Amino acid sequence: MVKRSRSPSATPPSKSVDGQTLTELGQQTLAVIEKVTQSRGDKGVWPAVKPGDLAAKFDKDPPDGPTDYGQILQKLESKVFPGALSWQHPRFMAYYPSSSSVPAILSETVIASIGSVGLQWTSNPIGTELEVVIMDWVAKFLGIGPAFHHSSGVGGGIIQGTAGESMLNMMICARTRMHRRKNPKLSWEDAFYQDASSYVVYTSDQAHFSAEKACRLAGLRCRRVKATLDEADKNFTLRPSDVQNAIEKDRAAGLQPLALILTYGSTNTSGTDDVASFKQLAEEEKLWVHVDAAYAGAAWSLEEFRKDAQAVSDVVTSVNMNGSKWFLCGFDSAFLWVRDRKLLLDVFSASDAFMADVEHTSIYNPEFKDWSVPLGRRFRSLRIWMVFEYFGTNGLRSYIRDAIDQASYLRQRIEESPHYEQPVNTKFGLVCVRSTKGEEATKALANHLQAQGYGIVPSKICGAEALRIALGGASTTKAIVEELWQEMVKFAESS
Ligand code: PLP
Repeated sequence: MVKRSRSPSATPPSKSVDGQTLTELGQQTLAVIEKVTQSRGDKGVWPAVKPGDLAAKFDKDPPDGPTDYGQILQKLESKVFPGALSWQHPRFMAYYPSSSSVPAILSETVIASIGSVGLQWTSNPIGTELEVVIMDWVAKFLGIGPAFHHSSGVGGGIIQGTAGESMLNMMICARTRMHRRKNPKLSWEDAFYQDASSYVVYTSDQAHFSAEKACRLAGLRCRRVKATLDEADKNFTLRPSDVQNAIEKDRAAGLQPLALILTYGSTNTSGTDDVASFKQLAEEEKLWVHVDAAYAGAAWSLEEFRKDAQAVSDVVTSVNMNGSKWFLCGFDSAFLWVRDRKLLLDVFSASDAFMADVEHTSIYNPEFKDWSVPLGRRFRSLRIWMVFEYFGTNGLRSYIRDAIDQASYLRQRIEESPHYEQPVNTKFGLVCVRSTKGEEATKALANHLQAQGYGIVPSKICGAEALRIALGGASTTKAIVEELWQEMVKFAESS
């Protein structure tokens, strides 16, 4: 083979080394993606591999010269796609969905073609301004109140990498706010280095572990208060009285309440904490209230969940929701809103002589580098914008409603069946199920469904085996859910 060398400076970004244009190579690449997407349903969700199998398919060293693009595509098909867990598969029902879409896929190419680094407004004005616009769009779509919109000039939203990062950032801000409250004359720097060892953050034992991790990384104690299995709701919820009791116990031991992390849509069972019921406690104890709605926040876009978004708007200091889960935006699009942007600026503001001086005369140059950890930021708002333009709010709402309808249908079938039961009443697109024949039968069902190509992961609810069936995948249809149910019935009747 002739060895060529690729010189980036000699190759304009719209041409390959062989002179093929971006359009030609793009079409070939999209054809491969299309082929893989169309044949996805014929295969299982899980790649049949063990650790090391995939790495062994790749050379130990990088290639010296350029590889023919056709060969790169062949390698993509033979070495890359087969090693990926098929998250976009119609039978993928594990974890929570990570729903991608045509505009989310294509937007990544546009983002890479612009290739900007959003250091500050000057370094990519449209990157900053579209993020401002988009964060207000999403807030309005979800019914998160005007106080959290950029247009308020006080609150606002920012796209983060993950929900975990959002919670970490909020806990660091909560700590700093408390120090400044105690001593308003402290400089922000001094405020940051005060002793925080007596501060406690309260959250539910059903909260995602990333809430606890955020507290740990922020140097804060985290008290996981036991959630109650609510009689009416038949799901887990945190009670204000239980948090109050925990606070009193901690106070007697010389500790001090700092913050509360509530969950809207817990990962294991989709349980929700009643945010409105914490208003009084939060005010009395002057708590920073954060709501983690990483998965279920999407439901606020529907009329029947609007009152929950209203409660969030009334009570919280900050709230996060993932556009990558049940929102067609793909990874990474973790939305975070705060009621008061100043609380972020106190912690994250930083600059240097090589940065442009910015006069904050407009809401459209908020300098996101001062709102979070990274200086360089991806142009993620473009993806969210393309998704909204492509589907419209009506399209997004009907996708979200479809998942709820599919889950309601499955819950109804389980309710009527002698073979299965629901350990808790789940909400949104999640269904939790176990066999009425006990633990072993539930484990056997999980193994059987996985062998049949379903992406379903077992879990434990109240210490007992249960299957989580998370609907909401962009290509999962009611017919697929019906097929799953028939498979479950067949399995129960034959075992
Ligand atoms: N919070 C909830 C309720 C979740 O369901 C998840 C993930 O499933 C997370 C937080 C963690 O999300 P991330 O990976 O964005 O940190």
